Amino acid sequence: MSPSHREPEIGADPCRSGELGRLASLVDPSLDDLARELQMRIAVEQFDTPVLLLDVDGTILDGNDGIVGLDIQRDDVRGRPVWAIDTWDLPEAAGVLTPLVEAGSQGRAGSRTLDTIDDAGPIRLSVTPVTVDDESVLLVARLERLGANEESDAILAETTQRLAAAEGIFQAVAEYTSDLVCLHETDGTFTYLSPSVRRLLDLEAAALVGTHPVDLAHPETRDALVGALQDVARRGAEPIRFRHRLRHRNGGTRWFETVITPIRNTDGELHQLQSSSRDITEQRENEQQLLKQAFRDELTGLPNRALLLDRMSHAFATARRTDQPIGVLFIDLDGFKTLNDTLGHYAGDRALSKVAERLIAIVRPGDTLARIGGDEFVMLCTGTEGAQSASLVARRILEAFERDFVLDGREVRLSASIGIATTTGENDSNAVIERAQTAMYEAKHNGRGRYVIHDEVEQSIDLERHDTEAALRRAIANGELRLHYQPELDLESGLIVGFEALVRWQAPDGRLIPPNEFIPLAEETGLIVELGRWVITEACRQASRWRVHRSPDEEPVRIWVNLSARQLEDPDLLGFVEDTVSRAGITTDEICMEITESVLMGDGDSASQQLDELRRIGISLGIDDFGTGWSQFEYLHRLPLDVLKIDRYFVQGLGTEPDAAVIVSAIIDLAHALGLIVIAEGVESKGQLEVLAELGCDQALGFYFSEPREAAAFDQALSRA
Ligand code: C2E
Ligand code: CA
Ligand code: CA
Repeated sequence: MSPSHREPEIGADPCRSGELGRLASLVDPSLDDLARELQMRIAVEQFDTPVLLLDVDGTILDGNDGIVGLDIQRDDVRGRPVWAIDTWDLPEAAGVLTPLVEAGSQGRAGSRTLDTIDDAGPIRLSVTPVTVDDESVLLVARLERLGANEESDAILAETTQRLAAAEGIFQAVAEYTSDLVCLHETDGTFTYLSPSVRRLLDLEAAALVGTHPVDLAHPETRDALVGALQDVARRGAEPIRFRHRLRHRNGGTRWFETVITPIRNTDGELHQLQSSSRDITEQRENEQQLLKQAFRDELTGLPNRALLLDRMSHAFATARRTDQPIGVLFIDLDGFKTLNDTLGHYAGDRALSKVAERLIAIVRPGDTLARIGGDEFVMLCTGTEGAQSASLVARRILEAFERDFVLDGREVRLSASIGIATTTGENDSNAVIERAQTAMYEAKHNGRGRYVIHDEVEQSIDLERHDTEAALRRAIANGELRLHYQPELDLESGLIVGFEALVRWQAPDGRLIPPNEFIPLAEETGLIVELGRWVITEACRQASRWRVHRSPDEEPVRIWVNLSARQLEDPDLLGFVEDTVSRAGITTDEICMEITESVLMGDGDSASQQLDELRRIGISLGIDDFGTGWSQFEYLHRLPLDVLKIDRYFVQGLGTEPDAAVIVSAIIDLAHALGLIVIAEGVESKGQLEVLAELGCDQALGFYFSEPREAAAFDQALSRA
């Protein structure tokens, strides 16, 4: 070996130290020693070429996986001086390397070449100091086997690429200072926080290192944070995005949208977590304001129909568990139209506000009073002991109308007719409201200013129900069910991208019974599990049949099936789906499932576990009727969803109600922020479609395109596409 190999080259720009220099420049001078070292370790990890990280006195702090290729074991060398490792075939290695380390500690780069004990050739060791405020704090030593020149260019290219990846991580640290950027141990403990934490939470970064983010979490969103940390560790390389609140030093809180990214070493082991959090407090306040508008009646400030339905589905879920009857009162003013016509709209509005005030005085805590139409109010009474206590409330309402109302200085007598329906929690809230409404008409018919209970009618329904259940059982067994399909169109391409499968019952008498007439019963009796299995099986078969109409380079059309809560309780659901999909010869991305929010209200945990599993095998999931059960949307971050379907209710207001577009727009933005595809339901007009397209909605379905029809009706359309 020529001695020139061992000539010191201190001070010269060491061979290919360019990328090492860039690596060193990534260090954020504001970091404390520990954070800096950790940061460097991660960066070093990104290299395939062998790199050692040295203390300024030459002690090896760590090495990356690349050093294994030189037969150097990390565990063997950690903590030893760089010249004391067994690799060097030179007793005086210390003499050669100490000057290099010393120069490095004084801020100068350099490189030396040393023979090794194996015969694979000498190694060039290039040291680049990492300096902060002109003082060396760490040394990066790159090892390069000489005699392998052909390879080194390729290695260099790769190194540069990996470096870019490492840089990406740290540029986030260095540049996006308005966000809070952190490094964490795998359990979440902070190892680094960007200085922006002072501006955002009025806290000092250094004081927080070693603490856990949970310490900063607001109790309300603590679970979201803990869950996200667990998920990111479980879920491979995918970053996790969620929203949560952190405590500000002044006692308040701020909302953040946080993305946690797992950092893995080349063996795929989780090494660290990196997070960046954006302050979305104001954005969220705007959203909340919009939501409030979406669920309140503007004139009276009372909940509107959407919010009422939401409260009802919650109350019904509780009632099913506790068997406590619920009373629903339908209150309609008598002769309101005449009042409006004679005194004018303005007086009419004033009258409604005053009526609302009197009714509010009667509502018990926990109950809901909503205005669902012009002069129609609904009161939801929970914890009633059945019809008796509901009628007690009704009597108090009638009493409240005995006093005159003063409108513009004039005394006006008003009265109301009330219909009462009770339930112990069926699935269809609208049906209960309808029963109460029927009873209200009865009250008007009987002479107004009174109430009627829907009791007798209810009993006959029970009888009817018994017959229907038996008939439905037979229908499933005898193959009387049919699936109709409604196409979903991509708003950009105008092409059919999927179908929603909707079940119908072809009764022996020839009548095609719509799902609303038998799904609630199927859900109550548990028949839905069997019915749902038939739907899944048939939808898979149809997906397979439609494959024939598509050329192989086209995306397969996706069929969406509706899933009921009860089906998610079926422990065999997953196995059944896997089986059915493979039997039909299709793949899991051709069949998708949609659920309503109420599905998550009961035993949310096991439901979300089932959903996780379905997603794992490749089934896309969507949230159906979004908006009608909208009590809180934090669950959107927690569930493995791909798609959000905006309920018809909101779509139908587009073009007629000025607020509707604002609300739909807020929903679309929220969904997109969460990475969800947005599908609008119930599009009936070109006008609605245009607004949706403008607001950035992705897909739509509705009568404007097509009603649900038999599969064969779409064969041609699919071949043409
Ligand atoms: P959904 O999931 O909200 O289904 C959409 C309903 O809206 C369908 O009613 C569809 O025909 C109707 N629709 C579609 N476009 C328009 C439009 O532009 N305007 C209007 N006014 N309506 C439109 P359908 O088929 O009567 O289904 C009613 C409900 O029955 C469904 O509501 C779903 O909740 C349930 N359902 C249907 N099939 C199944 C099933 O296989 N399993 C379960 N669990 N539920 C099902
Ligand atoms: Ca649906
Ligand atoms: Ca729907």
